[in-house]
Amino acid sequence: MRAMQLDAPRQPLQFRDLPIPVPAPGQVLIRTRACGVCRTDLHVVDGDLTQGKLPIIPGHEIVGEVVELGPGTTGLASGQRVGVPWLGYTCGQCRYCRAGHENLCDRARFTGYHLDGGYAEYVVADARYCFPLPEAYSDAQAAPLLCAGLIGYRALSMAGDARRLGIYGFGAAAHIVSQVARYQGREVYAFTRPGDSQAQAFARELGAVWAGDSASPAPEVLDAAIIFAPIGALIPAALQVVDKGGRVVCAGIHMTDIPSFPYAILWGERSVVSVANLTRHDGEAFLALAPRVPVRTEVEALPLTQANEALAKLRGGQVRGALALVP
Ligand SMILES: [Zn+2]
Ligand SMILES: [Zn+2]
Repeated sequence: MRAMQLDAPRQPLQFRDLPIPVPAPGQVLIRTRACGVCRTDLHVVDGDLTQGKLPIIPGHEIVGEVVELGPGTTGLASGQRVGVPWLGYTCGQCRYCRAGHENLCDRARFTGYHLDGGYAEYVVADARYCFPLPEAYSDAQAAPLLCAGLIGYRALSMAGDARRLGIYGFGAAAHIVSQVARYQGREVYAFTRPGDSQAQAFARELGAVWAGDSASPAPEVLDAAIIFAPIGALIPAALQVVDKGGRVVCAGIHMTDIPSFPYAILWGERSVVSVANLTRHDGEAFLALAPRVPVRTEVEALPLTQANEALAKLRGGQVRGALALVP
């Protein structure tokens, strides 16, 4: 099969012809139809995340068709379209798993990081972590639902019942989350990198009541903020725009260091919280909700062989909505 593989951090992915993987008991073999390109892939490729396996095939927003079941695998059928998310395995036995927090599992394994992912024509996945996908979405349109959507939705849930919601970084996750937030009756205030008038216009098209530079003051005091951009300096910035009792939710897996800041901007029972991974329950809840909103994803599809170009576009902030690779 054709695959794009990372040998070492900060190297370009290599185009390879690899054997088609064989599904183990409990797994399925999936023919990839589209795989989203997520900022977490960039953190893997750029060496910000260092606990994964190498070489690795990145990609954890996989849409594909089940073509073979491993021995004893149940729950999925050959020919079925499924999505494979970031959460690829949990132990089911640690105290987090037993408490319903499998996103925090001590022995979790993640797709495209510990387990080969979707930048390839085929992938194997544990059937228990695959999701059936809503029919309303094409393969490429469904891809960003699987991480930008799922983890964005978890971040939105952690913002509680905040009515005036700030969103920092208007990429794939924000373009989905802002639609859900509006559906829930919230007002979205979109903060982009300074001068990014295209992202600000995109945010307004998707219903943001205000869009502006992350360095500029918000027009209103906000009830909560979600930070999707991987920039630690946005945490004190967001704390300064949320009201007493407000929450700042950090949705990314990696951020640059947080600069020191005066305690006064945290005081007033403001809080800062991170979002880690997803549970299968998050996935089921979001994939049921998305077609009801309905969430419309804007996806630029590129051929699998252009994975390096796709990552460069994402790194440079040149993406409107989301990117997906199509084998
Ligand atoms: Zn566990
Ligand atoms: Zn992701």
